[in-house]
Amino acid sequence: MALRAVELIRRKRDGHPLSPDDIRAFIAGYTEGDVPDYQMAAMAMAIFFQGMTPEELAVWTQAMLHSGDLLDLGLPDGAPVIDKHSTGGVGDTISLALAPLAAACGLKVPMISGRGLGHTGGTIDKLESIPGFDAALSTERLRAIVHQHGFVITGQTARLAPADRKLYALRDVTATVMSVPLIASSIMSKKLAEGLSGLVLDVKTGSGAFMADVADAQRLARTMVGIGHDMGVTTHALITNMDQPLGHAIGNAIEVREAIDVLRAEGPEDMTELTLQLATRMLLIAGAAPDVRAAYDTARRALDDGRALACFRRVVEAQGGDPRVVDDPDLLPAAPIAQPWGAPDDGVVARIACDDLGRIAARLGAGRARAGEPIDHAVGLTLHHKVGAPVRRGEPLVTIHAREPAAAEAAALALRDAIEVAPEVATVRPLVLDVIDTP
Ligand code: URA
Ligand code: CA
Repeated sequence: MALRAVELIRRKRDGHPLSPDDIRAFIAGYTEGDVPDYQMAAMAMAIFFQGMTPEELAVWTQAMLHSGDLLDLGLPDGAPVIDKHSTGGVGDTISLALAPLAAACGLKVPMISGRGLGHTGGTIDKLESIPGFDAALSTERLRAIVHQHGFVITGQTARLAPADRKLYALRDVTATVMSVPLIASSIMSKKLAEGLSGLVLDVKTGSGAFMADVADAQRLARTMVGIGHDMGVTTHALITNMDQPLGHAIGNAIEVREAIDVLRAEGPEDMTELTLQLATRMLLIAGAAPDVRAAYDTARRALDDGRALACFRRVVEAQGGDPRVVDDPDLLPAAPIAQPWGAPDDGVVARIACDDLGRIAARLGAGRARAGEPIDHAVGLTLHHKVGAPVRRGEPLVTIHAREPAAAEAAALALRDAIEVAPEVATVRPLVLDVIDTP
């Protein structure tokens, strides 16, 4: 392959499409190590500039998906196996509430999630703040828990889409992450390896998102919905607003607490609403409700009557976690310092730089700069007011949860550039900006 690889890179560089066999050979060669990183890096850069045709994209995604094992849940044909994927936001704890909610409504949700990197948090890191929680389940355990309780949230195994694992790390250090076909095939290959019948995508846009622009987010969403469609997996995408963090908490343990609030029907309004809207789409795709209205009501009932919370408690226990945290979140780790940060002025919260807040929380220890670093589950930020809220000078706007006084001080300093209080605020965009349900 090594010699042929040069030829394929040249062809892509010059804007010619690759044949299905060539794509399959290139990805297989890369997975096995016959195509070295430098050739894949050159190919990724060629794709970055030249893009891919829909046909190439379908084959590329299939090849990545088949680079490892497919998850076989052993459920009967036609079982509603539905997952959700978010392109990554700040303070986005939706998965922790959504998976048990969808399961409480009768869906099967094998949620395979990642860890945080850079300014966005990761579902697995958050869940590991629950004492004992095991997010490295064997396939047998995963299967058993989905059969018994309807959902599971666990980390990615080495056997699931290994080509993407390698390629994502390579793209990260070769400035080739921001390519619609490469992002779309990366996400869809991992998700479709779960053996889904349907998928809901939460594509973020705004200051805290990958795709700062709505038009770019729509393009990415349409591309992913198209891949799902081509592979017979009904896929809907919501384009959602990430101009400010979701809910109030940004961290790990404090976000678990916030997800539990949502499951108790006492959560922040934006998180609750987005959780319900994503559940609505999951139910629609599964054919479990005749229309949007009925699906929304079904989800709302499972939240209000405590079924979703009960489902979460059972799965926490099944995954080795202490189920008492669900009823007593004070059992979660807490930081020794909780330092208020006051509003710099009288006025209205006009702007919250979402990515900055994510980075400040990460620097407190809630995230990591390099894969594999340990994190501090207890630290983070609690935002007491969102964009549009009137505030008085000195009134607590944020609580900084820190391990050390110096870290709290550094965070306080950085917050001055991340949050703006002004006499008035530009219009606040709605939470859900668009729904894309056909390619
Ligand atoms: N998330 C992924 O899994 N892959 C990408 O390429 C970007 C975000
Ligand atoms: Ca949050």
